[in-house]
Amino acid sequence: MNLAGSRPVLVIGGGIAGLTAAVELAATGVSVILVEKSASLGGRVAGLHQYFPKLCPPACGLEMHYRSLRESPNVTVLTQAEVVEVSGSAGAFEATVRVEPRFVGESCTLCGVCAGVCPAERPDPFNYGLSQTRAAYLPHAMAYPALYAIDRAACPSGCQACQTACAYGAIHLDAQPELREFQVSAVVAATGWKPYDAARLDTLGFGKFRNVVTNVMLERMAAADGPTAGRILRPSDAREPHTVAFVQCAGSRDENHLPYCSAVCCTASLKHAAYIRAQYPETAITIFYIDIRTPGRLEEFGAAVSQDRNLRLIKGKVARVEENPATGDLLVTAEDTLAGRKNTLQFELVVLATGMVPQQEGLPEGLARDEFGFLNGSEGSGGFVAAGCIRRPAEVSATVQDSTGAALRALQWAHRSVRHE
Ligand SMILES: Cc1cc2nc3c(=O)[nH]c(=O)nc-3n(C[C@H](O)[C@H](O)[C@H](O)COP(=O)(O)OP(=O)(O)OC[C@H]3O[C@@H](n4cnc5c(N)ncnc54)[C@H](O)[C@@H]3O)c2cc1C
Ligand code: SF4
Ligand code: SF4
Repeated sequence: MNLAGSRPVLVIGGGIAGLTAAVELAATGVSVILVEKSASLGGRVAGLHQYFPKLCPPACGLEMHYRSLRESPNVTVLTQAEVVEVSGSAGAFEATVRVEPRFVGESCTLCGVCAGVCPAERPDPFNYGLSQTRAAYLPHAMAYPALYAIDRAACPSGCQACQTACAYGAIHLDAQPELREFQVSAVVAATGWKPYDAARLDTLGFGKFRNVVTNVMLERMAAADGPTAGRILRPSDAREPHTVAFVQCAGSRDENHLPYCSAVCCTASLKHAAYIRAQYPETAITIFYIDIRTPGRLEEFGAAVSQDRNLRLIKGKVARVEENPATGDLLVTAEDTLAGRKNTLQFELVVLATGMVPQQEGLPEGLARDEFGFLNGSEGSGGFVAAGCIRRPAEVSATVQDSTGAALRALQWAHRSVRHE
């Protein structure tokens, strides 16, 4: 098939879904404009310590895609970029993309001198605010592109210390945003998910009690490049937790919050139990659940972790979490539906297994959504295709399969666009 003369495909979102779609499309000879709003590709997967079910580092899958991007002349990667408008029709869209300045150019050698001289700090979004970075920062250890960036919103006025200190002339503090126009044949929407706002679960203590954290925060604590250098510690006193509770369906399957099942949080909590066991042989772990859902081949992983003699599964919804302010310990009140009673148990750390919300901000207008905000279908009608967790909550392997299918549907529009020229 000769795709010379076809219009490129616009992929919105550079997580595992968007990366997969971009790499698959590029492999067929189609050009891709990959638009990512943060300073680095990889999405939420880049923040995972390990992947279930094999517990391998996410670097494996991401590195493979980054290598393809480095080797492919067909993909234009725009980071710190968002699509502001898409007009026209399938096969012949006009897309306007706003690219925010990074303030650091390609000659950056990652020496880190800029961060060393920088006086300003900001909460690190990659670590969900559990740590700070300087205003001159590397998004994370595996960042692609591997370049520092500058958060100008965090800079005190008049400061130019980093620009003066950079021996490679890589810093340009006067860089301006750019608007770029592209003619594209199809649009793949792959903007992914965000964690449900745990502060809205007002009986569970997140944001009030320091030792109540969320599942995504635990991922970062377990990661060697995370805020605690890989140790899972209580935020209040940086001590090893001897008792840990997981609260499943924190917000999910609840009419007042997210009425749907977020699909991955049960397996994620079992994985987190494995992280804790790898660090602390004696820590007692309790998982409060409604149903443990480890579908398909994840069942075996769940069964293996459940063998742990110090892991207790209690079927029952958690009614509330309270704190003993003197110790920072937490009192969890929950039903035990199998025993037919209500218990209040004490823990040193509580992890809320919060659900996944579709990340809809910055998507072109008029895309069909279901009642929860997930994009409908992936049939590609009208030249728009949805891929990954913006379509439904899913683990990485299902996301990758979905995105490969989305690439094929977008490819059909790219193919037809040859005849529009
Ligand atoms: C606690 C937890 C642990 C998990 N652990 C595992 C695991 O061990 N194994 C596993 O298989 N799965 C796991 N998952 C699921 C996994 O995180 C998802 O399958 C994966 O993140 C889906 O990728 P995605 O690309 O669809 O979305 P995302 O990872 O959310 O990526 C979306 C990308 O789009 C970008 N973006 C968003 N909006 C815009 C916009 N408007 N314009 C441009 N760019 C935009 C984002 O910045 C991001 O880079 C876990 C999930 C949770 C909640
Ligand atoms: S911007 Fe300059 S000082 Fe900062 S890491 Fe890159 S090369 Fe080093
Ligand atoms: S200009 Fe901003 S990023 Fe650079 S050193 Fe000053 S505060 Fe830090």
